[in-house]
Parts: sequence; structure tokens; C-alpha cells
Amino acid sequence: MENYKHILLAVDFFENDAIVSSRAKDLADRYQAALSIIHVVDSLPMTHSDYGLDLPFNLDLAAELTAVARVRLAKLAEQLQVSESKTWLEMGSPKQEIIRIATENEADLIVMGSHGRHGFGLLLGSTANAVLHHAKCDVLAVRLPDD
Ligand code: AMP
Repeated sequence: MENYKHILLAVDFFENDAIVSSRAKDLADRYQAALSIIHVVDSLPMTHSDYGLDLPFNLDLAAELTAVARVRLAKLAEQLQVSESKTWLEMGSPKQEIIRIATENEADLIVMGSHGRHGFGLLLGSTANAVLHHAKCDVLAVRLPDD
């Protein structure tokens, strides 16, 4: 089996991110692989509603969330010694964006949590499930405590 060359770490800045991040960093060091990080500002709550309301996309909220996420992503990148050019801050559907960035940048392993914000209390969250099903490369779903 060939060594992994490019590991993409997906973080949602929810609980237990540190466990997922340190697993990705450890694997990158072991395999001497490039490590990159993606965070997706989820646009779904801003464009959909379960209550039958067609909410307009909120530009101010989106800009605010993106600004906060940018700071957190930069901090994590510094901790993991990942250069800015290897960080992706995207907006949209987390599962789609993770798969798109992994494909476009030829990641051969995606490291993510078994469940995060969407899958709280589940064995496997919806983002993890979709990425596992649709990614073209290996996916490591790091088992997180149920809490
Ligand atoms: P979920 O399936 O949404 O509960 O989340 C499982 C894992 O998917 C998380 O632990 C993260 O690794 C990844 N993930 C979920 N949402 C995002 C996001 N917005 N940006 C990047 N990664 C995410």
C-alpha cells in the first residue's frame, strides 16, 4: 500500500475537534504527507427553513460567521503548522464542499469526526455519512465519545 500524500482534515469547530485534529496531524507526520484543513460555513440554516418560510440569505450573518471561522481556522492552522495556502474556508453544504475540495486538490485521505454538530448523539453524523458514501478517496471517521 502506498503512503498517503495529502490528508484533508475537516473541522466543524464543535466539541471534540481537538481529537480529530491531533489524529490527522499524527497521520500526516507518520506518512510524511501534506496536511490541509477545511471548514465550511454551513449556508443551510440561512437559506432553508423547516417552518415553511422562505428566508432570504442573510449576508450580514454570513459575513459575521465567516469572519469568526477565519480566525479559528488560522489559529488551528498555526497549531498544526499548516500554511495558509493549505486551508480552505468555504461556504455552502459541508458534505459537498468537503468532497469538492478533496477531489480538486487530490487528497487521498479525509479525516473527520464520526459525529459533530449535525450528528450529535448519533454513531455517525449526516456529514460523515455522506462523505463516507461519496468521497473518491479513503475517509477516516474518528470515533468520538457520545457524551
Ligand atoms: P456531522 O456528520 O455533521 O455530525 O459531523 C461529522 C464530522 O464532519 C465533524 O466531526 C467534522 O469532522 C465534519 N464536519 C461537519 N460539519 C463540518 C463543517 N461545516 N466544516 C467542516 N467539517 C465539517
